[in-house]
Amino acid sequence: PFELKGKSVYVAGHRGMVGSAIVRRLARENVNLVTVERHEVDLCNQAAVFDWFAKMRPQVIFLAAAKVGGIVANNTLRAEFIYDNIAIAANVIHAAHLNRAEKLMFLGSSCIYPKLAPQPLREDAVLTGPLEPTNEPYAIAKIAGIKMAEAYRSQYGSDFISVMPTNLYGPGDNYHPELSHVVAALIRRFHEAKLSGARTVAVWGTGTPRREFLYVDDMADACVHLMKTYSSSELINIGTGEDIAIAEFARVVAEIVGYRGEISFDPSRPDGTPRKLLDIGRLDKLGWRATTSLKDGIARAYGAYLAEGQANGP
Ligand code: GDP
Repeated sequence: PFELKGKSVYVAGHRGMVGSAIVRRLARENVNLVTVERHEVDLCNQAAVFDWFAKMRPQVIFLAAAKVGGIVANNTLRAEFIYDNIAIAANVIHAAHLNRAEKLMFLGSSCIYPKLAPQPLREDAVLTGPLEPTNEPYAIAKIAGIKMAEAYRSQYGSDFISVMPTNLYGPGDNYHPELSHVVAALIRRFHEAKLSGARTVAVWGTGTPRREFLYVDDMADACVHLMKTYSSSELINIGTGEDIAIAEFARVVAEIVGYRGEISFDPSRPDGTPRKLLDIGRLDKLGWRATTSLKDGIARAYGAYLAEGQANGP
């Protein structure tokens, strides 16, 4: 296996939900962690990224930096989502190549798979059909990152790998009412309804779409595991292997938050893709499984939301 011990390990996106979870997980690995703040190095700025890499020369890179958001953010900030994510992937992957990094992990997303690909989504479904239109710009940028990692491996022999997480949630999430993902949105909405005594809370869409949710510390654990054990141009999915309808999921969140009122649905809001369950056969064979149940994960995420003081902006 690939040795992390004693290496300089750069986590790009260490202030984000995923990057900060990877940083927490790396605390158990005896590495020289390297991070840099956004005001010092803007990852969209090629010259700044190249200069910083030439100076720091990290040996191992977790590329967890991205412009992210929920269905509305993806669908409205379309230019920002494609530009920022292509620029981040292009700059960091090329800088890793120029400075002969030993290994790089690119974090993609399950939205790279075609809208109507067979479920559960296998890694080889990528580029077999049209994407979900609401997040196409984000997905195209992530596919570009995957294809870069693949191309550098085939042309230069770089040990660059790509992992595709399912929908993630947990501490450090973004709770913006319009721009967040569903987990953070519902934690906040049910919490505020509980405090105000509201009798009904609206959940977006029809409640019928199905999603798979992975607790972010499980994701970080999988990333470290794969960094050590996986080396291939093939993508690898990271998920739990289980999904849940949004309507049922909303009841789980309401229960954990302690909201006892009614739940209604607002079909004027987008449903997005009907189902997004990953096939985790490949990950399973590599000996990794998620350990946090949905209920435990939501309870921890709610605890973190209360502790973070609901201060997270978009
Ligand atoms: P997606 O997996 O890319 O569609 O990301 P989201 O987390 O934004 O949405 C997941 C599903 O939850 C979609 O079917 C949404 O319509 C549904 N959903 C229900 N209520 C909300 C909400 O308040 N915010 C968000 N973002 N999604 C919601």
